[in-house]
Amino acid sequence: MLRAALALSVAASALTAPALAQDADRQWSIVVHGGAGVIERENMDAATEAAYRDALELAVRTGGEILENGGSALDAVEAVIHGLEDDPKFNSGRGAVFTSAGTNELDASVMRGSDLAAGAVAGVTNVRHPISLAIAVMEDSPHVMLAGEGAETFAAEQGLELVDPSYFFTERRWQSMVRAVEAMGLPVPQRPENAPEPEPVEEGALDLMEAEHAFGTVGVVAMDETGTVVAGTSTGGTTAKRWGRVGDSPIIGAGTYAAGECGVSATGTGEYFIRLNVAARICWGIEEGALTPAEAARASADRVIHADLGALGGDGGIVMLYEGEPVWSFNTPGMYRASLREDGEPVVQIFGDEG
Ligand code: ASP
Repeated sequence: MLRAALALSVAASALTAPALAQDADRQWSIVVHGGAGVIERENMDAATEAAYRDALELAVRTGGEILENGGSALDAVEAVIHGLEDDPKFNSGRGAVFTSAGTNELDASVMRGSDLAAGAVAGVTNVRHPISLAIAVMEDSPHVMLAGEGAETFAAEQGLELVDPSYFFTERRWQSMVRAVEAMGLPVPQRPENAPEPEPVEEGALDLMEAEHAFGTVGVVAMDETGTVVAGTSTGGTTAKRWGRVGDSPIIGAGTYAAGECGVSATGTGEYFIRLNVAARICWGIEEGALTPAEAARASADRVIHADLGALGGDGGIVMLYEGEPVWSFNTPGMYRASLREDGEPVVQIFGDEG
């Protein structure tokens, strides 16, 4: 036991210490995801595809600009996730999926690799930017994870922007939940107070959401010019979730993890990611040996996503940075994803056959 603990602390310092070394050649980088699932060309019209590509490019450019101007990785992660939380295309903040009770319960988490600081929130219903609440938990509370009403009280005390729950309402997510509860044989909940009048939603949009497996969680990993890595994730969880269900996104080690120069944000069937401790396992499983940093990171990610997650029956993917190298891995047909490095151009991909 002691030997295991010792090994862990040695490995932890090996992971954390080098990240703080000043390196004049160090270049910032950022990688973003907007969810994974059965995202295929035949399910997506050109306008929808273009809208997702634009949103992903805007996300990495927004983060890149902050990092280029000497901003911290934490600032970049927060700003990029704000934009995605405000964008109804993604399942986080406005546009989050509904529970089977007709509510939006939002989860988010953040972790910094240089000092293993972390913060998370689960099941919040009135905080416009759950990622900012997770950051406040990390920076301004003695705790790592807050849930439900207590988290909302803390948000109010911190002066974070609170909104009426109807702010998160979108018609397509509502109708998608209605289809799901009907299929589950559950009663359709009452339309939320203050929700807009019902409007028609194209069948195709609903099919796309179902095909996406209702994913659409957002995640960002950024490294700034000091070498500090921050990973953050924000989600509404899974469509028609019940009983206060919490997925992997706010679980440090499962949906989000950062240690030293490694940072991971995940998206997929949370019940599987939690049990496999996906995000932490990928960072801890990197073995460079004869491989380059990018190859080593990819090998670890692919092992966990394609072998372990696949074997357990889980679907989804991750984006990560390791020594500034953006890497992604997913076992679904597609994943909304993008990256940008200091000396490069944005790379934006959706389908599995790109890149
Ligand atoms: N991982 C999220 C959850 O299980 C869902 C997602 O990534 O779409 O709550």
